[in-house]
Amino acid sequence: MSIRLDVVTIFPDYLAPLDLSLIGKARREGLVDLHVHDLRDFTHDRHRTVDDTPFGGGAGMVMKPQPWAEALDHVLAQPLVSGNVVDMASTRRTQEGVGHAVPRLIVPGPGGVPFSQALAHELAAEAWLAFACGRYEGLDERVYEHAAERMPVTVVSLGDYVLNGGEVAVLAMVEAIVRLVPGVVGNAESLVEESHEDGLLEYPVYTKPAVWDDRGTERPVPPILLSGNHCAIAQWRHQQRLERTAARRPDLLHPSATGGALAALDGR
Ligand code: SAM
Repeated sequence: MSIRLDVVTIFPDYLAPLDLSLIGKARREGLVDLHVHDLRDFTHDRHRTVDDTPFGGGAGMVMKPQPWAEALDHVLAQPLVSGNVVDMASTRRTQEGVGHAVPRLIVPGPGGVPFSQALAHELAAEAWLAFACGRYEGLDERVYEHAAERMPVTVVSLGDYVLNGGEVAVLAMVEAIVRLVPGVVGNAESLVEESHEDGLLEYPVYTKPAVWDDRGTERPVPPILLSGNHCAIAQWRHQQRLERTAARRPDLLHPSATGGALAALDGR
């Protein structure tokens, strides 16, 4: 199984790290088929303009709809192939009723649904993803309408803060997604016990030496880990996961605690 990824950006060089490490290896092994497109290639003026002032006034610039529509249509026109065979398994039906493969479009944005390990799993199961990296104040809203008539669109937030552009968000999402594609991480077992896989954070981990001389301060690993008692080690690790989650992310243990904003809206 492989995954095709198309990224549209005004900074193609920003995506260069996707040639490194595990993702670079996965690309070379044919597990990931990555294509980066320069949004400015879809402009038609001398200055290759992608932005303009916002209607209604206000600070900042907004990304023009026309280059985005052309860029996304260009991505859509690509055939999805596994080897030399068009991948019919991932074929979706367009609203015009014509069957051909289309990607699921991810638009990074602080106003999107939160990115999570669960969403990474969902996206890793797709055959084709496209990413639209916004800049400035974001994309003209009509780009979403254009895209939604042609493919599934999801706006996804990396977290409750504002980045300068979507590229960093795409790097993070692609890394989280691609490592879940079968064959990318050599030891699949290492994916199972990680933070966020089952709602808890991971336990603390240690390696050699058993006692580390930290410039005169002796720092031993917890003795239980040297006991050879696998059952006791598993119990200790589970307890550590609970304590760490309670200390750092109590919201994971009590999700209703995040209902504060909704309660405020309801006047409760
Ligand atoms: N005016 C927008 C707003 O308030 O929602 C923020 C625009 S931001 C300066 C520019 C671009 O950075 C966005 O279009 C998006 O691509 C990206 N971006 C910023 N924060 C992000 C976040 N938390 N998650 C994902 N993408 C983000």
